Amino acid sequence: MKIGIIAIQGDVREHQAKFESLGVELATVRKPRDLEGAAGLVIPGGESTTIGMLMQEYGVLDAIRDRAATGGWPIWGTCAGLILLAAEVIGPSPARLGLIDMTADRNAWGRQVSSFEVPLTVPVLGDRPFPAVFIRAPRIRRIGLGVTALASLDGQVVMAEAGPYLVSAFHPELTDDTRVHEYFINKARNYSAMLS
Ligand code: GLN
Repeated sequence: MKIGIIAIQGDVREHQAKFESLGVELATVRKPRDLEGAAGLVIPGGESTTIGMLMQEYGVLDAIRDRAATGGWPIWGTCAGLILLAAEVIGPSPARLGLIDMTADRNAWGRQVSSFEVPLTVPVLGDRPFPAVFIRAPRIRRIGLGVTALASLDGQVVMAEAGPYLVSAFHPELTDDTRVHEYFINKARNYSAMLS
């Protein structure tokens, strides 16, 4: 099974190392044709304005939208990737997919502390807290009815799921813990199984 990652800017290599350690090929995506055969797509952390602008320029934003419209295709956005998946953005509004009914407030965790790590309770990953690294992260100010909160910090959602879509305000690729990657691989496996 192959998963794609938007490889314009940001934490591409870190995700690659994680997925490869779990036996999944992670193919870099810049152009629409790179999406072929990908059982899922990762949009990494980085700078959402830059990533969104170049995704639009390369035509990959429209290609992803078309593919997503066929239903069930898993997409996971971390941090900047979360912003690109949000229907509504507070702060400078980047070109984006807007596939999830939620409001992302850019850099809102970052105004207090620019970067921090906390042990986060994520019930779908089991009892052991997940080491969650936040780097100038967006706050999810609102989630729509079809969106499920998977983890919260200080009463605010930091990880959520909406059908095939997964978002995390923190960076699982920067820790040794592989559970969020495994969780997403599982979604991609289910999607592949549904197609075959
Ligand atoms: N602050 C970045 C943005 O708004 C996101 C930070 C990150 O991805 N670590 O795009």
